[in-house]
Amino acid sequence: MKKEELQALQPQIYQSFQVILQQGRLAHAYLFSGDFASFEMAIFLSQAIFCEDKIAEIPCGQCRSCRLIERGEFTDVSIISPQGNTIKTETIRDLVKQFSQSGFESNQQVFIIRDAEKMHPNAANSLLKVMEEPQSDIRIFLLTNQEHAVLATIKSRVQIVPFPKNLLVLERLLEEEGVLKTQARLIARLVASIEEAKQLASQKSFLELMLVAKKWIDVLVKQPDKAYLQVGSLVRLVDEKSDQVRLFHLLTLLLAERMTEPIVLIYLENLQFAYLQWQGNVSLQNALEYWLLSTEKQVKG
Ligand SMILES: [Zn+2]
Repeated sequence: MKKEELQALQPQIYQSFQVILQQGRLAHAYLFSGDFASFEMAIFLSQAIFCEDKIAEIPCGQCRSCRLIERGEFTDVSIISPQGNTIKTETIRDLVKQFSQSGFESNQQVFIIRDAEKMHPNAANSLLKVMEEPQSDIRIFLLTNQEHAVLATIKSRVQIVPFPKNLLVLERLLEEEGVLKTQARLIARLVASIEEAKQLASQKSFLELMLVAKKWIDVLVKQPDKAYLQVGSLVRLVDEKSDQVRLFHLLTLLLAERMTEPIVLIYLENLQFAYLQWQGNVSLQNALEYWLLSTEKQVKG
């Protein structure tokens, strides 16, 4: 990602780090909370450390080091992601060991750890221990979208920087990628990261789901009986569990946009129950049908 793009996505954070870099005050360990351009910021800061052609401490983005870092191929910048559901202690220990053995020649090292809440406590301890050794020059960027799940012992030893979702910028970004304005609005509200937004925007099946769901909600508000008969048209578009979760989010958002109509509030409230039923292994079709029937009964009764 170009620094101009990063700057547009997180203008305040970008500016703060610009000042921090220029004053040489970059901390040794950060926790970036929220997925919105946090990884890109970690890459940018790594470039700022290793760039061969900095201008006022800002990395050029062009030199060999900058390019290798961007591609995730620079030896002194390790990017660690969980394998399955955990970041293994051995993974971190191996890295730390490698680093300790490398001597003083290249004592600058950056660790970028994605989904840091999945790091085993022992792994976190190894990392924090080596960070606090006086001769080492290690920077650690922990990234998480679930700050509440990060161990308190870690949080107390790092600087926490929130990376909030910037809806307007995200919408604009999607529109620039050719997504329609109304669709960009919905996708921006649905997703938890830029990656996810771009992924959804490029998925034909999801774009179709949005269209069908929007039409279906229109029918629901005017002719609930007809909507009941069309539940299947929604269900057939979402086979995977993860897509079904998305459908619930999508219906919630679409209903929320029509809150001026009194009946919508009841549908919205009851949709929570349908979601819980579905989580409890009721089929999607049955959960949605029961949702419609019970709401109708409530309205008439
Ligand atoms: Zn550079």
